[in-house]
Amino acid sequence: MMYIYLSGPPSKLYEESSEVKVTVRPGMALEDMSKEALSDPEKFWAEQARGLDWHRQWDRVLDWNPPFARWFSGGLLNASVNCLDRHVTTETKNKAAIIWESESGESRTLTYFQLYRYVNRFANVLKGLGVQKGDRVTIYMPMVPELPVAMLACARIGATHSVVFSGFSSQALVDRVNDAQSKVIVTADGGFRKGKLVDLKRVVDESLAQTPSVQHVVVFRRAGNDVRMGPKDVWWHEAIEKAPMFCPPEMVESTHPLYILYTSGTTGKPKGVMHGTAGYLVHLYATAKWVFDFNKSDIFFCTADIGWVTGHSYIVYAPLMHGITEIMYDGAPDYPRPDRYWAVAEKHGATILYTTPTALRMYMKYGDAIPNSFDLSFLRLLGTVGEPINPEVWQWYFTTIGKERCPIIDTWWQTETGGIMLSACTGVDFVPMKPGSATFPVPGVDAVVVDDSGSPVPPGTKGYLVVRKPWPGMLLSLWGDDEKYRKTYWSKFEGVYYPGDYALVDKDGYLWLLGRADDVLKVAGHRLGTMELESAFVAHKAIAEAAVASRPDSTKGESIIAFLVAKEGVAASDALRKDIVEHIRKTVGPIATPDEVYFVGKLPKTRSGKIMRRLLKAIASGDKIGDITTLEDGAAIDEVRHAYDELKKAVG
Ligand code: ATP
Ligand code: MG
Repeated sequence: MMYIYLSGPPSKLYEESSEVKVTVRPGMALEDMSKEALSDPEKFWAEQARGLDWHRQWDRVLDWNPPFARWFSGGLLNASVNCLDRHVTTETKNKAAIIWESESGESRTLTYFQLYRYVNRFANVLKGLGVQKGDRVTIYMPMVPELPVAMLACARIGATHSVVFSGFSSQALVDRVNDAQSKVIVTADGGFRKGKLVDLKRVVDESLAQTPSVQHVVVFRRAGNDVRMGPKDVWWHEAIEKAPMFCPPEMVESTHPLYILYTSGTTGKPKGVMHGTAGYLVHLYATAKWVFDFNKSDIFFCTADIGWVTGHSYIVYAPLMHGITEIMYDGAPDYPRPDRYWAVAEKHGATILYTTPTALRMYMKYGDAIPNSFDLSFLRLLGTVGEPINPEVWQWYFTTIGKERCPIIDTWWQTETGGIMLSACTGVDFVPMKPGSATFPVPGVDAVVVDDSGSPVPPGTKGYLVVRKPWPGMLLSLWGDDEKYRKTYWSKFEGVYYPGDYALVDKDGYLWLLGRADDVLKVAGHRLGTMELESAFVAHKAIAEAAVASRPDSTKGESIIAFLVAKEGVAASDALRKDIVEHIRKTVGPIATPDEVYFVGKLPKTRSGKIMRRLLKAIASGDKIGDITTLEDGAAIDEVRHAYDELKKAVG
């Protein structure tokens, strides 16, 4: 089946003048479902909650004491039971839960039953170390199956997990362990990244002097690294050997904190987002069904790292609740060759691929021949998350990867929202796609675009995305900081959730995300979204990646500075610079003419792959650069600084 999509010239994120080929409305089934959901949200979400296994049913669906929501209060349940126990008495018992693949091409498969046993035993290990309901456990592990095992083991005994991305160094770990006051750290003797050993145990050792709450460290043997075992250290394999086979699940209240997870730190210091149990799981269960249309034969490949929310929600909890098979990949997308996602998808027959625009831009840079050399014919659905997808990139994903067979779902959500909030719902109804639009809110989510006074804006007008009603996946609060929670998300508009993203609704009701609300340039009285501008640069045939920043300018307000990464084999030159400026003038308008254009080898990104524009802006205006603990590669700052200084010298 050929999926219809609407396309205008894919030069910007939203092309106001684009010729829309077909006038569409959302599919009726989706529209009806959304209407019904919003007319009686409690009834609607209660129906969704019946998809979970409860030890005791809830008394009330929602207690809403703005900005604090308590979903399904009075209910008792356990997250690990919903991911594992529910399957081990059915045919799913013997089915692959996790197919793990390493960078070097090694694989391991765990069935639901094996995972169940493993989680029970590790839960007993944690219990044996004195971990009790309500205690926090920091998990600092590479992408191995033992990472979800440790998370689910925490959930089984009612401990709150706090996963720290394994690429972080000691300071980031210390901050997060101390913030959560964790009793135990679960780690490994090492991990691998681009063929190099990442010495996780050494980072943990370094942190111990500054993390007095930690009583024990459990060390999983992954790398064969020669580590020093100290007085607090316990080998995973030795402890598990002695652990009993079954651990009775601790039934927790619906609002019991399942985990703490820190945001990416794209806009500032990372925030400790706290998620409860029942609401969070209900949201995931429902959205996974609607958005991905999970079915029994699916092999789901979500490329996220479990250190980020996408991995928590759509590698660990949602797919396991649904009893489907998933691929877990431990490695970089481009090592040893820039083909890993395609190779893994081919080898294991992935049916759904869920990845990021930044990974796609990287692959696009290497051309079509690489993906074309793999058999990707089992793919039926393609998804993205994390950033707006540039229409150029969307088009490539659709044509080169999906061969125009697979719909693309662009899913907008945040660490704070727990699960997907805006997306096409292929499991509910078919809606025509528009490259670059996240389409509509999922049923039950009341998202609209408003102006500064909080009133909905007319179609085609930029404004702030907000959510007017509480939803089950929403964060409980920020860990230990209710005041910051209130201030960050609930103070811009009274009683309304403010995600901090810029958006618009087009005349067909489709939502377009236009980047961070605080990432807007004001040039000669015009407001330009940085994301939109970057998309326009990426639409130039020589450009693979772009980041736009600004500097205060006495006449124009702000002047535009562009940092560009050229495609493989393209040489940076003045002629190319001129051509690009001309391209921007033509596609966006003279107002968007960049004042300075720099070519760089890489851009400063967060570990989750997002461009840290605040950093570029700081460099360009000579300000302090702030918290960079989540920066992917420190060398990128130097490179940008260098390119900047060189050009400054050249132009005097
Ligand atoms: P911090 O809040 O610490 O600055 P962060 O916002 O990058 O970090 P996440 O919660 O991982 O941390 O990312 C959520 C953000 O990612 C959203 O607010 C939005 O800006 C962006 N985003 C996610 N998915 C999409 C999407 N499909 N389209 C557009 N933007 C998206
Ligand atoms: Mg954020």
